[in-house]
Amino acid sequence: MRAWKETIEDNAIVVAALNDPILSARADDLRDVGRRVLKIMLGIDDKNNLMPDTPTVIVARELSPSDTVSFNQDLVLGFCIVNGGPTSHTAILAKALGLPAIVGVDESVLGLESGTTVIMSGNDGTLTISPSSDELKFAEQTRNQGLEQRRTALEQANAPAITADGHHVEVVGNAGSLADAEKALKMGAAGIGLLRTEFLFLERTTAPTEDEQFDVYRSIAETMGKLPVIVRTLDVGGDKPLPYIEMQHEDNPFLGERGIRLCLNRPELFRQQLRAILRAAPHGNLRIMFPMVGDIDEWRQARAILDELHQTLNIPRIEAGIMIEVPSAALMADVFAREVDFFSIGTNDLTQYTLAMDRMHPALAHKQDGLHPAVLRLIAQTINGAHKHGKWAGICGELGSDPYAIPVLIGLGIDELSVNTPSVPLVKAQIRGLKVPELQDLARQALECSTAQEVRKLVKNQLSL
Ligand code: PEP
Ligand code: MG
Repeated sequence: MRAWKETIEDNAIVVAALNDPILSARADDLRDVGRRVLKIMLGIDDKNNLMPDTPTVIVARELSPSDTVSFNQDLVLGFCIVNGGPTSHTAILAKALGLPAIVGVDESVLGLESGTTVIMSGNDGTLTISPSSDELKFAEQTRNQGLEQRRTALEQANAPAITADGHHVEVVGNAGSLADAEKALKMGAAGIGLLRTEFLFLERTTAPTEDEQFDVYRSIAETMGKLPVIVRTLDVGGDKPLPYIEMQHEDNPFLGERGIRLCLNRPELFRQQLRAILRAAPHGNLRIMFPMVGDIDEWRQARAILDELHQTLNIPRIEAGIMIEVPSAALMADVFAREVDFFSIGTNDLTQYTLAMDRMHPALAHKQDGLHPAVLRLIAQTINGAHKHGKWAGICGELGSDPYAIPVLIGLGIDELSVNTPSVPLVKAQIRGLKVPELQDLARQALECSTAQEVRKLVKNQLSL
């Protein structure tokens, strides 16, 4: 055990000394794994340590994805995290578990005594410490109403999402694994609007082979049957580096070789993934989507490789679209729409790039709101650009499941909402209570607002949310 501890620490020191801040931060991950193995060797049951036996809000500086999924979900009521922004991947994971999370909270919460009573509201991002009995009663009522709403929505999960005046909106799920796809089906999703394929590539030391990828895409395609699955090609770089891809140090990785840029610079990795997707396509209803496209040449190069593979593999053409997450692509949407089959707006990145705010930055977390009129104007421009050429536009960022955003997005003409799977029934239920002409009026007003808070107030007043 001592040898294990010392070896881990020696290696962690080497990793911590690496020149690249992203790689050097992996030293903490190494120590985390080291501690976990040590606990197993010592026979310590980690679950008991991590999980108290009463319903609990977890307060932490940072949570790794493995921490987040290792808590007993029956007893965890939510997460309060100091680091990370509202669209950081830990926050997205908490949502996928159907749990509320507040990120970017003040450091002082770390000093809270274990066992302190708190009220956490994921809706408005507040944490009330040692609340009064009246506050507690009100919070319990609100929570019970929320649970009841969720239960009713779940009962009608398989009914279509049609507004009160007969307008259909496609509600699909975001997935990052086969298990997510299975869950999306149970939640009444009409397909997968975003399959993040990074799960196949992360946390390993070598790239997955074409056949390994093919097996996973095929099982997801078969699980979903006739329902469409939009497979997003590898989106790494930025906050998600891969150990087996050599990358130069970047001062601004979010503005560097990310997403499609990285794939186009590594054609063999890209071709391998495209081949695996195309071979899996006949087993279901797959579509392809490229991330982080900012320039039409990137789309054309990717499209050309795809066309060539279609030919060599002799597989019928499948639909191909792009994510709109870079402002330049949103501004040029009508030009892109002549060539692509569809758009899916990635509001997590579109918000970060439009507002020039790192989506992981805790101090800016409360300002990163996709309902900012600047972001809404880009969304409107994207939808109009798509419709001008008879193409459709969806949203696959976190904004798509925000109850304040849904009415505005439908008013702007969005065709599809792709949301974290637990939200699918709730989003569908909300849509059934809306009427499009009112929403169009609301959307017009939202575009004229000056701030995100004004937009939220407008929606609250008009729809009595
Ligand atoms: C987005 O940017 O909105 C998106 C859906 O992609 P990701 O969160 O994986 O960057
Ligand atoms: Mg993105």
